[in-house]
Amino acid sequence: MEKLKVLLASSEVVPFAKTGGLADVAGSLPIALEEMGVDVRVIMPKYASVKAGGNEATLGKKVKVYFVENDGYFNRKELYGDKFGDYADNLDRFVFFSRGILERCKKEGFAPDVIHCNDWQTALIPVYLNTIYKYDPFFSKTKTLLTIHNMAYQGLFDKEQFPKIGLDWALFSINYFEFYGKVNLMKAGLIYADAISTVSPTYAKEILTKEFGCGLEGVLKTREKSLYGILNGIDYNVWNPAKDTKIFKKYSADNLGDKYVNKEKLQKELDLKVDRDIPMIGLISRLADQKGLDLLAKIIDELLNIKVQFVLLGTGDNKYHILMEKMAKRHPKNTSINLKFDATLAQKIYASSDLFLIPSRYEPCGLGQMISFKYGTIPVVRQTGGLKDSVQEFDLKTGNGSGFTFEEYRADHFFAAIKRGLSAYRNTAAWEDLVKKDMGLDFSWKTSAKDYIDLFRKMLK
Ligand code: ADP
Repeated sequence: MEKLKVLLASSEVVPFAKTGGLADVAGSLPIALEEMGVDVRVIMPKYASVKAGGNEATLGKKVKVYFVENDGYFNRKELYGDKFGDYADNLDRFVFFSRGILERCKKEGFAPDVIHCNDWQTALIPVYLNTIYKYDPFFSKTKTLLTIHNMAYQGLFDKEQFPKIGLDWALFSINYFEFYGKVNLMKAGLIYADAISTVSPTYAKEILTKEFGCGLEGVLKTREKSLYGILNGIDYNVWNPAKDTKIFKKYSADNLGDKYVNKEKLQKELDLKVDRDIPMIGLISRLADQKGLDLLAKIIDELLNIKVQFVLLGTGDNKYHILMEKMAKRHPKNTSINLKFDATLAQKIYASSDLFLIPSRYEPCGLGQMISFKYGTIPVVRQTGGLKDSVQEFDLKTGNGSGFTFEEYRADHFFAAIKRGLSAYRNTAAWEDLVKKDMGLDFSWKTSAKDYIDLFRKMLK
């Protein structure tokens, strides 16, 4: 069989730039694809955070990464906006990026079989290939897959900005870009892409409903036959306590004692009482409505009256910053609130916590639960999207299951799940078995990368 040629286009890629899970996926899936024999390359904007000189670099051992350069647009500290909100020229920036991607393919002489687009920032590529580049022989065989990492971010712009896209006004219609009077990049991408996927089987079903479709459920319904759900994986070369150089002490399931060395050192670093017996509850998240922080707000005082420590790392909506700061003032002894983005601290928290909270309102895939497993930290999750596909309720009697779960979006149910977690924690022998079992679960890309390859091949038939 001929080698598949795939270009993964993403607005963020670990280790070059990251605001969320998309960057983790874009930085690890290609490595797995390459190991499975795909000629895969990656393309992203050259932001200020990209340290590599020149306009290309390498990911893993040999995946080529192309950077689209434009200092005016991309040489900025943040990716999409600053404290004043989204950058006003985001449409210009990602139009430039999308056109830049197609032109770069030509410049490199790389005609992909599939361009794997991700989220609204690259949703224009399927559109351009069917309009401006429709008769371009270079792309005559190129197909597009558009992966949705989060339906809530669609790339919406005022109608007046439509000409920046460079297409005929006729496309500003309800059948293409128009969405309640605005320009919607994701919508047009979903219409033109050869196939669509999202990052878990459950979320693929959820987005067909009004509750999760964010207004695009109707469009998705028309594309249902081409819609797939493939669960994300994580890269165990990055997320692995046995190899992690950022944590205080490396450990594995065979020397769990060292996990608790991490816990004590982090307690010290964060000015918490140093005592390995106190259950440590971690939460690392964008502070956005999606993440279930309103549920947390309802139970946090009651939770912190129990003998636990709560460690939070996150940035996002100002209202949550204020909420968390106030909460920390009420419970100074057993909370550590870190309102920033800090990859090193994140790794230390994964390594040191006993329970990890993900009470999301919705969650396309979620990576925190998979990372937690590997670090022997037990997730407490709401059963939605990828969380539902990856965490099952633990049963103390049978030892089945991997975490603590709740279904209805209710604070009391969330609290009950945490309490089940805390009571399991007190059963030392059962807890150790659970921790060891979770550390052995496999959420690497092995299975999912193969699913992507099968999908690419199917698209080319
Ligand atoms: P989302 O993409 O919706 O933000 P995911 O669970 O898919 O959520 O991915 C979040 C990723 O970002 C995880 O790797 C998580 O550890 C990381 N992360 C989130 N907030 C922070 C932060 N403040 N500091 C460091 N890492 C963070």
